[in-house]
Amino acid sequence: MRIDKFLHAMRIGTRTQVRRLIKDGHITTNGEPVLSGKQQVNPGSDTVLLDDEPVRYQEFFYYVLNKPVGVITATADTQAKTVLDLFNTTDYRDDLFPVGRLDKDTEGVLVITNDGALSHALLSPSHHVTKIYEAEVTGEITPEQVTGFNDGITLKDGTQLQPAQARIVAFHEIENYTTLQIEIHEGKYHQVKRMVGTLGERVVQLRRIAFGSLTLPVGLLAGNYRALTDEELAALK
Ligand code: URA
Repeated sequence: MRIDKFLHAMRIGTRTQVRRLIKDGHITTNGEPVLSGKQQVNPGSDTVLLDDEPVRYQEFFYYVLNKPVGVITATADTQAKTVLDLFNTTDYRDDLFPVGRLDKDTEGVLVITNDGALSHALLSPSHHVTKIYEAEVTGEITPEQVTGFNDGITLKDGTQLQPAQARIVAFHEIENYTTLQIEIHEGKYHQVKRMVGTLGERVVQLRRIAFGSLTLPVGLLAGNYRALTDEELAALK
């Protein structure tokens, strides 16, 4: 592949920055200076250096995003802002995509990757990846109501759900709403909102705090993302 494409794909810099690095003589392959971005490189076998630092070939990229409200879980859209619009130009790659989806008005943990096999495995119904949500729900929810989720409820449209676990975190008497933590092991459309709907109540705020072993990183503000650590990735797989 072209050396400029390779350097950009390895997140060395934007296309402009990469062109500048080449022009200024910072890049070598197998000890020879690179004179043009058009030069071909074999990422598997050639040694590419940026000054003295090896530029290693990495096929897959993994990020955790704290998805903010108001952004859609898609790769591109003509109208709405997408989760990939939150990526800076160095990290952005056109093969990145979100693993699963969160509603536009839901925030929280979302994995972004270009690893289709991992995504497929995490989303496959047989994998049963646990997702934990914190939901602000209208009205006062009783313990009996939430233990009912344990039996696997039937939604209004007849969809049968697997058992889910829920607990009451707090009842806010003055504002009359309940904070629930709900753990589900599948990913049906609007699942949490529809589960709460069976109680005759409504979710007013929803945040995913865990996706499998991956919990929302402390300090990662809504709208921010970071690369998964090797440990987080290994645990997710
Ligand atoms: N359940 C929902 O209702 N919405 C989400 O975004 C995720 C789970």
